[in-house]
Amino acid sequence: MILHYFSAMRILLVEDETSIANFIRDGLEEEGFAVDVADNGKKGLQMALDYLDEYDLILLDWMLPGLNGIEICRAIRKENQQVPVIFLTAKDTVDDAVFGLEAGANDYIRKPFAFEEMLARIRVLLRNHSGEQTVFRYGTIELNVEQHRVTRRKQPVDLTQKEFALLEFLLRNKGKVGRRTRIIEKVWDIHFDHDTSVIDVYINALRKKLDDPGAESFIQTIRGVGYRINDDK
Ligand code: CA
Repeated sequence: MILHYFSAMRILLVEDETSIANFIRDGLEEEGFAVDVADNGKKGLQMALDYLDEYDLILLDWMLPGLNGIEICRAIRKENQQVPVIFLTAKDTVDDAVFGLEAGANDYIRKPFAFEEMLARIRVLLRNHSGEQTVFRYGTIELNVEQHRVTRRKQPVDLTQKEFALLEFLLRNKGKVGRRTRIIEKVWDIHFDHDTSVIDVYINALRKKLDDPGAESFIQTIRGVGYRINDDK
């Protein structure tokens, strides 16, 4: 039970219609989520702001007594840009949907909806939000995808776009051999029809910029196949 509690994601549901709130809460709890319910706008905003770091996702009804979903979403976004927010709405014009997204929601679901559809969208958002790794390391080398920045021994290293992309590919696939054809597909583009020896030029540039002088290169050559960064560091 304790393990289950710690591994659960916590969701705040702000919904004033009891039957809908119960239906969503019961379904999500069966899926292993922890769910807190607020049945009016003011309470919802209060809970959101009091426990913002605790929630992995917020489900927000649009029409609520007290404050409406748009107002709550705007107030949440002032404090926290990260937490995924999904609107639940009976409104069904395109304009309304755009309005909801402009207020800072990540997605919206129109009532009535199938529980499975809502669950699928929740999972997509949670995966995008928490599952996507953006910092990769090997030894003293660190690559930060969001900041588009590479450092070695905490000092910034200038890389070209292609060098960066190649290093990112190898670090993402640490421990696996990056085959030449796959590197070309991923780092150049799928229709690149030049000789794959262009990769060697970029590998050499990465080695020059990032290897420790005199030491074995951090990028291994797998002869006739491709390149690899070990997952030993
Ligand atoms: Ca409502």
